[in-house]
Amino acid sequence: MKKQKSIALVAHDNRKKDLIEWVRFNKKKLRNHLITCTGTTGKLVEEELNKDILGHEMVVKKMKSGPLGGDQQLGAMIAEGKIDVMVFFWDPMSAQPHDVDVKALLRLTVLYNVVTASNRSTADFVISSHLFDEDYEVRLKDYSAYIQRPMD
Ligand code: PGA
Repeated sequence: MKKQKSIALVAHDNRKKDLIEWVRFNKKKLRNHLITCTGTTGKLVEEELNKDILGHEMVVKKMKSGPLGGDQQLGAMIAEGKIDVMVFFWDPMSAQPHDVDVKALLRLTVLYNVVTASNRSTADFVISSHLFDEDYEVRLKDYSAYIQRPMD
């Protein structure tokens, strides 16, 4: 992954406040990267990233709202190698209508070795790592034996 990272930011409703607080705290750093979000999170993140900033208006790429397919859209981006880091503050206290989509998204982050944070402490450690602002070689597991497995 390049110095400029492609970062996915997502938060369930009960965690949106926490994510926006983290975005506010790390605004200066985040503005150097490319941000993609699920729909509702994206509106809030974009508003926060542009608050009290003169000049360059930052545009956040917004997918559909999570329950309407946004998590799956992010999953597709991961499968295409288009996301380097994901900060996903999911809600551990409420059942989600799109629970299977959330699970699928989290599975793909593991499969494709995407840097993933689900809570504030991990997100703080990730963003303060010197690797966050450097090129980094992501090692992917070799699935060629699986892809070429015999079908008879
Ligand atoms: P939202 O979706 O940003 O559109 O609220 C988040 C989610 O539930 O995955």
